[in-house]
Amino acid sequence: MHFEEADRLKSLPPYLFAEIDKLINKKRKEGLDVISLGIGDPDIPTSKDIVETLCEEANVPENHRYPSSYGLRIFKEAVSKFYLQRFDVTLDPEREVIPLMGSKEGIADLAYTFINPGDYAIMTDPSYLVYKISTLFAGGIPYKVPLKEEDDFLLDIEDIDSEIAKKAKIMYINYPNNPTSATCDKNFFEKIVSFAEKNNIIVCHDNAYSDVYQGENKPMSFLNAYGSKNTGIEFNSLSKTFNMTGWRIGYAVGNAGIIESLGKYKTNVDSGVFNAVQYAAVKALENYKIHTEYNNKIYNRRRELIKRTLDDMGIDYHDSNAAIYVWAKVPEGFTSASFSKMLLDKANVVVTPGVEFGENGEGYIRISMTLEDSRLEEALKRVRNVL
Ligand SMILES: *Cc1c(COP(=O)(O)O)cnc(C)c1O
Repeated sequence: MHFEEADRLKSLPPYLFAEIDKLINKKRKEGLDVISLGIGDPDIPTSKDIVETLCEEANVPENHRYPSSYGLRIFKEAVSKFYLQRFDVTLDPEREVIPLMGSKEGIADLAYTFINPGDYAIMTDPSYLVYKISTLFAGGIPYKVPLKEEDDFLLDIEDIDSEIAKKAKIMYINYPNNPTSATCDKNFFEKIVSFAEKNNIIVCHDNAYSDVYQGENKPMSFLNAYGSKNTGIEFNSLSKTFNMTGWRIGYAVGNAGIIESLGKYKTNVDSGVFNAVQYAAVKALENYKIHTEYNNKIYNRRRELIKRTLDDMGIDYHDSNAAIYVWAKVPEGFTSASFSKMLLDKANVVVTPGVEFGENGEGYIRISMTLEDSRLEEALKRVRNVL
């Protein structure tokens, strides 16, 4: 029998890198030691105290039943307290916070909550792919704004067609940015807020890397911007900050009306986050200072190592203090795909071609730091040897 996929699946853009994936698999089958700098998934294990809280709570029978889609009060209070201490942002735990089964899922839910067929959603190119895919799945039209090196990879609202701006429903932004690692300041967020207010657009700021940073220049929350709660929400996640990608817990904070609508959608398609996971997340958030200090020490060392190696090789990169990636330029004569393929062929090292994140990613590769130091060193040594 043949079951025809729905049009929304058929509308997916073709996957450009099947050939590279095949080559990786072939090499691994041959027993070659392929090192991947392609994956944005922390290698550092979740802290023991968080795991122990999960184990204890998993033994409590009340936690075995359906959670509420709207989450445990104690989790929402922990998020609010974290936002107050970390960002100096005040939140009403009941109305302005909702837990998510991962922020990826939450971002996709937002499209189904607000986008009608034919609606425009503004997003950057390159970007994390879920904004575009979920917009397409909901029948919407992605409107892409290029990220340019000369703007430090900050979205420039001047690049948005004013007719599209009037019609657009949602705008997605993400700083610290995946894949470019670019960061922004409050002034940028405030420009976004006034643009969104003028055009009646929902801002969705994805702050998945809010707590992966080096030095004193900490990333901000979108909610630090004056007026932001009138127009938008922020997605955040335990995944990168606490090395909990497999646990599936994130949250959205901000405008109460948007949060309420998102909750209305979610109660109809999911049944919330396992309560034991929410209790473990409370434990994580309560001790965020200890965890982020520990993680950032590790990432800072790796970031420095990558930058030093690229400097030695004369390869340009975006000099950022945040996120878990280095966004580097491919040497003259290569495309992002041909350079990635060359590194795989000759060095058995995988990097992500920039075009995987959109056509403006051409000319770049994304190097991920989620690999233990010795393996990262080995990978960089190999890259140095082939260049
Ligand atoms: C990793 C990542 C996420 C997803 O986080 P989850 O909470 O694990 O779903 C969201 N946005 C960006 C930009 C990411 O890189």
